Amino acid sequence: AGIVALAGCGGGGAGSSGGSGAEGSGDKGDLLIGVSMPTQTSERWIADGNAVQDGLEEAGYQVDLQYAGDDIPTQGQQIDQMITKGADLLVIAAIDGTALSSQLDAAAAANIPVISYDRLIRDSEHVDFYVTFDNYKVGVQQATSLLTGLGVLDEDGKETGEKGPFNIELFAGSLDDNNAHFFWQGAMDTLQPFIDDGVLAVPSGQTDIEQAAILRWQQETAQKRMEDLLTSTYAGGTKLDGVLSPYDGLSRGIITALQGTGGLGPAIADGLPIVTGQDAEIGSVALIDQGVQFASIFKDTRKLAEQSVVVAQAILEGEEPEANDTETYDNGVKVVPSYLLQSDIVYKDNITPLLVDSGYWTQAEVDSGV
Ligand code: BGC
Repeated sequence: AGIVALAGCGGGGAGSSGGSGAEGSGDKGDLLIGVSMPTQTSERWIADGNAVQDGLEEAGYQVDLQYAGDDIPTQGQQIDQMITKGADLLVIAAIDGTALSSQLDAAAAANIPVISYDRLIRDSEHVDFYVTFDNYKVGVQQATSLLTGLGVLDEDGKETGEKGPFNIELFAGSLDDNNAHFFWQGAMDTLQPFIDDGVLAVPSGQTDIEQAAILRWQQETAQKRMEDLLTSTYAGGTKLDGVLSPYDGLSRGIITALQGTGGLGPAIADGLPIVTGQDAEIGSVALIDQGVQFASIFKDTRKLAEQSVVVAQAILEGEEPEANDTETYDNGVKVVPSYLLQSDIVYKDNITPLLVDSGYWTQAEVDSGV
């Protein structure tokens, strides 16, 4: 709730030219923007949806916001309906980045520009712009937080000389989400030198993204995979020191599996391993505060929403939206001009300055975990 409440009022960028009602063009209120979000099972997407909607409405547009329940056909139908309703622009966070080509063809045929939101839509030339975070760097930060937790890196990111060896396991996101590959690449580029030096080992041997991936980013699937790893690899007393997890929901599933080990005590005899995350979801922030989860990555969804409003406005006013990256995001057909935002690692000791002082979560939410 904290995010939602704040989304509307922090929007200097979004609201700066939006004002309320007194626009020169006069007919902005007739413009309809379709906003398609993947799921409501993760709080970040609810916050994103609300913040985009608030920002666009504040700027004077009408908004049709839909969530697709992580179901690919549903998302396709919702976007088809937005096109039929006469949407003037679409903002889409895809479930499966490769599944929307026909919708994007239809949008292009109707002259409807498309902004890819957070996740890149692939295999279509009709993606006009991409607003996201520096996803490779998010992966670097996830690996960095793992190495910090293990004591291989110090607070400034310098190597401490700690040689381990540490046993870790690796999790990745949903393979149909382009971001999952960027997170993985950033993380593995960071971890690989330490694996090569023998500081880190992956006892299960599951070091390919296909082995580590969790379809649709589902918490239960991550819990099940962690349980399977504990049974297959750690039952004999091997200690588990760390888990690379790319999303807080997965992290909570992993932690549940670890806490439920009972007879598999040796794996976690000295306490839970270092578990990473992403999104600074409130349940995980509380776990970080309690010393259960080690870290997360804070991506300020308010800023992403704000940026998407700025881009939408520019496109609808016939201007070229400002990009700060025109090289990285090749969707298979073209390199999509992008605006990348920066993220931060959340540790126990910076929850207050990063999340509470910025109004993302209140102290009461951090304390209660909801
Ligand atoms: C987003 C992450 C999120 C994940 C699961 C990714 O595309 O970038 O922030 O954790 O999807 O929802």
